[in-house]
Amino acid sequence: MRLDRFLSETSSLTRSLAKRALKNGEVTLNGEPVKQASIHVDTVHDDVLLNGEKLSLVGLRYLMMHKPTDVECTARRGLYPRVIDLIDLPKAERLQPVGRLDVDTTGLLLLTDDGQWSHRVTSPKHRCAKVYIAELAEPVEGSAAEWAINQVAEGLMLDDEETPTQPATLRFLTPQRAELTITEGRYHQVKRMFAALGNHVNALHRQSIGEIALPDDLAPGEWRELTPEEIASF
Ligand code: URA
Repeated sequence: MRLDRFLSETSSLTRSLAKRALKNGEVTLNGEPVKQASIHVDTVHDDVLLNGEKLSLVGLRYLMMHKPTDVECTARRGLYPRVIDLIDLPKAERLQPVGRLDVDTTGLLLLTDDGQWSHRVTSPKHRCAKVYIAELAEPVEGSAAEWAINQVAEGLMLDDEETPTQPATLRFLTPQRAELTITEGRYHQVKRMFAALGNHVNALHRQSIGEIALPDDLAPGEWRELTPEEIASF
């Protein structure tokens, strides 16, 4: 892209004001002062500064990922690869996971650099429903299943917490496979809820967040941009 066009698309300058800024020596390209409006800019890799401020074509971004196991939702590098390491986009490190999944949890993860949108999704005030599928260590059937469903509907006391969980919905798909819908996001909430019921989660998968469901054709490790409808659903 021509430099004067890049300037006008990434700042408040019009094309002619961009040319004037260039003439006035207000622009650097990869650290060097530049005056030539027609010079070509690599919009991904070149570093363009206007009066010392970095310009970028990247706007707000909204993505979904099918998080695989053994990938972390943290920003700093640790034992496992980070989810942002799976995203081959410029400045991927600007994207933040919208609520975390444990390293061994799979499924729907939203990522964005829009802090307000992220807050709308995660704020307990908004009571956004998140659906998880849990593979359980102990089979649950009959009256034990009914008891568990009622406990979850009433709210469970988790270890080291002072308030019970918000009413949630538990459904047994098989004796060892359960669907749990919660509207909060406490630390390790799903695993701790099943622990409070005397069970153990062997594997956990998030199926949906609000109206956004993980599509069947998004394989573990793959991601795609959210559609305008998906973004507007929060
Ligand atoms: N609850 C958990 O226990 N783990 C997750 O990753 C998400 C919800």
